[in-house]
Amino acid sequence: MTQLKGWRDIPIGGMILEAGNAVEYLTGGWRAFRPLFGEAACIHCMQCWLFCPDSSILVDVENEKMIGFDLEYCKGCGICASVCPVNAKVIRKGGEELERDDPRLCILMVEEGKFGEEDSE
Ligand code: SF4
Ligand code: SF4
Repeated sequence: MTQLKGWRDIPIGGMILEAGNAVEYLTGGWRAFRPLFGEAACIHCMQCWLFCPDSSILVDVENEKMIGFDLEYCKGCGICASVCPVNAKVIRKGGEELERDDPRLCILMVEEGKFGEEDSE
């Protein structure tokens, strides 16, 4: 177990002395909901990549395609689903209020543990 620092050991102002140490915190453990690809076809516009606060959108750089979610760091905030233009189109087209786990969406948000991990990408 990591030894917790006492108040005398913590730098003034809580400064971060080692840049890039966020990679050590697997924020995916905080998640209550998780993003999944739905039925609607992704147009690879990368809006989700641009807005994800945890850099958790996986991209095939060579082919310029969004390919899934990095669940080690994805906190399940749902921002990707909110900004996805394909989601907006599906919702508008349906003319009804869709649940956030409706499979017709491009990115849907499901409760953690509801579907298998293999469905995530
Ligand atoms: S999932 Fe949506 S926001 Fe992300 S690349 Fe595909 S269409 Fe764009
Ligand atoms: S839910 Fe979407 S926007 Fe939020 S952390 Fe996960 S991948 Fe990023």
